[in-house]
Amino acid sequence: MLDLLVIGAGLTGLTAAYTAAKSGLRVKVIAKGLGAMHWGAGTLDILGYLPGEEGAVKRPLAAISQLPDGHPYRLAGDVAGVLATFVALTEEIGLPFQREVGRRLTQINADSENLLLPSPVGAARPAFAAPVGQLGGDLSRPEPMLIVGFTGLRDFYPQLIAENLTRQGYPARAAFLPLAVVSGRRDNTAVSIARELDNPDQRQKLAQALRPLLKPGERVGLPAILGLDDHMQALADLQGLMGTAVFEIPTLPPSVPGMRLFRALEERLQRLGVRVEVGMEVTGANRGWRPETRDSQSPISNLQSPISIEWVETETSARPLKHRARAFLLATGGILGGGFESDVNGRVWEPIFNLPLTAPQKRSGWFRPAFLDPQGHPVFNGGVAVSPDFRPVDGAGRPLFANVWAAGGLLANFDPILERSLSGTAVVTGMAAAQAIVEHVKCEP
Ligand SMILES: Cc1cc2nc3c(=O)[nH]c(=O)nc-3n(C[C@H](O)[C@H](O)[C@H](O)COP(=O)(O)OP(=O)(O)OC[C@H]3O[C@@H](n4cnc5c(N)ncnc54)[C@H](O)[C@@H]3O)c2cc1C
Repeated sequence: MLDLLVIGAGLTGLTAAYTAAKSGLRVKVIAKGLGAMHWGAGTLDILGYLPGEEGAVKRPLAAISQLPDGHPYRLAGDVAGVLATFVALTEEIGLPFQREVGRRLTQINADSENLLLPSPVGAARPAFAAPVGQLGGDLSRPEPMLIVGFTGLRDFYPQLIAENLTRQGYPARAAFLPLAVVSGRRDNTAVSIARELDNPDQRQKLAQALRPLLKPGERVGLPAILGLDDHMQALADLQGLMGTAVFEIPTLPPSVPGMRLFRALEERLQRLGVRVEVGMEVTGANRGWRPETRDSQSPISNLQSPISIEWVETETSARPLKHRARAFLLATGGILGGGFESDVNGRVWEPIFNLPLTAPQKRSGWFRPAFLDPQGHPVFNGGVAVSPDFRPVDGAGRPLFANVWAAGGLLANFDPILERSLSGTAVVTGMAAAQAIVEHVKCEP
């Protein structure tokens, strides 16, 4: 039997699966679709903003003490330690996250400051660490930027980026190249161009076309297209050919950096013996048994002690399947990731274990009137409340199940969009919950 079944293949589920498998557990990941990694910038965003406060957070780890008690980072405890494990994982999979080009990230502490990187619209975006390919865009560097797009490529607007950066005091100018430089196709996306640039000959052609545009002392910002499977080599080649720093700026979705990370994590998991099966929607769980009796089918609402889940059920094209495991981790992403369902009136529910949610249950309570309200929106702050070891709890704080944990975007008591803590909370809670599961499974008879 499996030790751990992870439900959800986003950053939370995959980093949790890695942590558990590395500790010797037999793990499997199932998900109805790909995670929201394919939407994100592919950076490690720990904490960019504090609710109710103006301006970006400078030192995110130090600022964690200002977050409310039930915030997922406060539950996780050793955030720096977990992040160090994640950074080591990115090195293991060949997509190292760093804070300075060419310098391994070995020190993560309360003094570590957020970087500012250019966003797809030219805003200064706080991120704690980033894949090497994005670091050349660090806005604390003095070199002016040449932002280059391709005529006809949707989802990347160099003029908008350059104008907005310049307005904020970061000198930048825009230029365009014909799409034919990098692709023979008439219709292209960042993903198709990234595939083209896995080919060294295409990198040569791109460098040849870029060189005449460049002024001395400039660095070059491109959409995130520098290779899909051979990214590190593509980046090194292009920088070598250009003789200057070349960096990627995330495009509108789908995100090539997110896709690279997903593929590399999936491959690493496979080598650890973990199968990632996408296309399996979990539709429910059995009512389980009490650990001490193993025969009760008591309704969850009458519990004196938490019950255990024996299996969850998935819809597949052929027939429903039951998946048994000693432990289950729910990493279904909440309202953003499709892990919660809702109806037209705004009622929100968690469809697999029917967990209680702190989200508002009327549509009128979901959003505050101002789109950019400094307190964020209640619907993003609502989710599954958990114990300090990441087990879903009832209103009195008691764990609901003996063998179910929850992590990532579905958790209550934080607003990942307002805080810009999407990937940070995914990694930290995924890995911390997996660690709690490892201890639980290893202590079981
Ligand atoms: C619009 C948008 C913008 C984003 N922007 C950023 C950004 O700028 N920066 C950033 O870092 N991140 C961004 N993200 C992504 C963010 O990284 C994730 O939302 C966050 O990391 C939470 O990850 P997660 O693994 O908890 O959930 P998700 O990545 O949402 O993964 C949820 C997983 O659960 C699966 N699932 C859901 N329900 C079921 C079910 N019933 N049965 C089986 N599987 C199920 C899904 O198919 C998916 O695999 C964005 C996401 C969205 C949607």
